[in-house]
Amino acid sequence: MADLSGKTALVTGAARGIGRAIAVRLAQAGADVAVCDLDASWLEETAAAIRAAGRRVETFACDVSRADQVEAGVNVVAQAWGRLDVLVNNAGITRDTFLARMSEADWDAVLNVNLKGAFLFTKAASRWMLKQRSGSIVNIASVIGIIGNAGQANYAASKGGLIALTRTVARELASRNVRANAVAPGFIRTAMTDKLPDELRNRMLSSIPLGRFGEPDDVARVVLFLASDDSAYVTGQVISVCGGMVMA
Ligand code: NDP
Repeated sequence: MADLSGKTALVTGAARGIGRAIAVRLAQAGADVAVCDLDASWLEETAAAIRAAGRRVETFACDVSRADQVEAGVNVVAQAWGRLDVLVNNAGITRDTFLARMSEADWDAVLNVNLKGAFLFTKAASRWMLKQRSGSIVNIASVIGIIGNAGQANYAASKGGLIALTRTVARELASRNVRANAVAPGFIRTAMTDKLPDELRNRMLSSIPLGRFGEPDDVARVVLFLASDDSAYVTGQVISVCGGMVMA
């Protein structure tokens, strides 16, 4: 398994779902892991699993769309541990509805969390990574950011933007050995997808060549690869984790 011994990582939106699975995987690979979510008390289970893996954990409350909170959180963690090797921008939300009915507030909310949040964290974390001359940034995008989806104009735009941000960051930071890649999950079983109607879930299942929905750990294992030196020569890439739903 990829080795992150001696490294530190920060995962956003890690109270549950994919973010929690990623935080625990990184800890099991040897990293000390800082985790944030809107409310720090929601992070207890994640923190316990990181400690059970024998690693140090820091938890903090942070709305990823708030520059002051992002800056403070990154600095507290990086100062406490002296370095920041891995950033995973995972926090994300949906506010689905057709374009004609989509409010400006629905648009802004999704873009602020999914895209601006990643920008703010990348800006704050990359200062440390540039000084270290090493680092790996992994953005959790979505296959919807590649193919689009009716009823998800805000979400698709945010995830497509996140892919473009990933490639730009990869180009800007490569000369200092800081890498940036994106993972594009398909349909992963979490609270975000549990709320979808059965009819839609069945339709989606029939479009997945591997014949099953993904689990959070399916995503986490690919994130671990991108976070570790196993992917030392990989930057600016998007890896879809979608059971073959999208082949590009
Ligand atoms: P969940 O809703 O289960 O978890 C997301 C976490 O992020 C929640 O704890 C959520 O808190 C938190 N969060 C929301 N807004 C903010 C914010 N402003 N600041 C900090 N934390 C916040 O989602 P998933 O685990 O399913 O998704 C994780 C990522 O993977 C997202 O970026 C999502 O878009 C992406 N993804 C998921 C897919 C899937 O099928 N599940 C498919 C493709 C991509 P709260 O409980 O308040 O919402």
